[in-house]
Parts: sequence; C-alpha cells; structure tokens
Amino acid sequence: MGVRRPFIAGNWKMNMLSSQAADLMRTLDHGFSGEDDVDIAVFPPAIYLRDAVKLLSNSTIQVGAQNVCWERNGAFTGEISPAMLKDMGVHLAIIGHSERRTIFLEDDAMINRKLRHALDEGLMPVLCIGETLSERNAGKTEAVIERQISKAFTDVPRDRIPRVTVAYEPVWAIGTGKTATPEQAQQVHRVIREWLGTVCGEGKAATIRILYGGSVKPENARELLHQPDIDGALVGGASLKADSFLAIAEAALY
Ligand code: PEP
Repeated sequence: MGVRRPFIAGNWKMNMLSSQAADLMRTLDHGFSGEDDVDIAVFPPAIYLRDAVKLLSNSTIQVGAQNVCWERNGAFTGEISPAMLKDMGVHLAIIGHSERRTIFLEDDAMINRKLRHALDEGLMPVLCIGETLSERNAGKTEAVIERQISKAFTDVPRDRIPRVTVAYEPVWAIGTGKTATPEQAQQVHRVIREWLGTVCGEGKAATIRILYGGSVKPENARELLHQPDIDGALVGGASLKADSFLAIAEAALY
C-alpha cells in the first residue's frame, strides 16, 4: 500500500438507536488495536456525534459526519455547519454521497460549495463520486468520474487538495451486494489518481487516499484493498457489525 496508510471508514447512514450505536462503538474500541497500521473512522448519524466523540475520546478510532452544510451559520433549517462539527470535536465529513445526490438532489455545484467551505473551515472531507449502472453500461464511467471530480474541486486551492480523501463508490454497487471487481475498481482509481496528478502534481497525488465503496465485506475486502490505487474502503452495511468492520480493517493489512 506504499506511502498511504490504509483507511477504513464506516458509514452508518440512518441506522441504530443510541444504545446500539454506543454498544457498537465500545465493541469496536475494544476490538481495535490502535497500533495496527490502519486508520479507522466511524460516521454515525449526526445526533450521536457528541456521544461518539466522548465515547471514543481515548481511542484511535476517528469520528466523522455523514454530511455538512456549505455555510457557517444562518437560516438553513436542519443543517449542520463545519464550524459546529469542529466545535464538537469532529474533523471528518463525508461530502457528496450518492444517497445525498440521488435522494436529496445534491448536485455538483452544491457538492463543490460544501467541499470548499469544509476545507476553508479546516475539516478533512471524504468526497464521494461514482457512476450509475446505466452510465457504466453506456461506457461513460470515466467521463462521469472526471466530471464529478473536476466540478467538486473547482476553485479549490491546489495546496488543499491533499487534505481530501476521495471515495470511488459505483452507485450500482452500494447496498446491492454487487461489488466492482478489483480490476474494475483499480481502473477507476487509477483514473482518479491521474486526474489528481494533473491538478496538484504526481507527488502530491501519490499521497492522497482513494477509498473504494460498494458492498465491501470481509470476503471481498482483501483483493480490493490490495490493488495498487485502492487505499481503503468506505463501508456501509458491513460497518454496522463490529466483527465484519474489524475484519475489513484487518484485510487491509495482510
Ligand atoms: C456506502 O453507503 O457508502 C456503501 C458503500 O454502502 P454498502 O457498503 O452497504 O454498499
């Protein structure tokens, strides 16, 4: 995995009541040896972030938000700003998840505003991009990826780009049980790294972590995670059980 330390991120989406979330965090904390050469983070529902930060305050497990607003404060009912997250001790935020794009109609322009503002405020964004099945079948995967990434990074200062983790999540593989083959995923990850190289230089691009997401499980993690440009995983369903999430983290190592 070269210079990039693997990163395994668990997106809990809108799952679990608070006691279940707390149990899962305790079990993860107990089961994860922080000395392992892998970073792990959980992204609980926003309402549990404060508890999560407290519960994991002595842990190397990081805590992130699933979404963030593009403004600092004001009349944005229901939203949470990067400043509020930081104030709570949360430094990571997922931006542009395909469920936000498709269900909540976030477009490339909104995602760009979110990314720029999150970086302005010092957050570490996890930017999600990925094609739909019809786009893949039409041979448009690379064009879609290049459009999403170039729009997301529009007007982002070059020196800030390495603070972003990119997650390639083919929409057809999310929550469906269908996984991109390691070769399909690697091919897109290479395209992403080449694009990053053209905007911030190959040396910087080589330090940026690119995660794969889409039905990652203990059974398929190892092969995916050992592709040259796959630096970790964004895990949905399998992050809701400590055993499977920790097994995926372990797969990144051996
Ligand atoms: C996700 O939602 O980011 C995801 C990858 O989900 P799943 O692992 O369940 O496909």
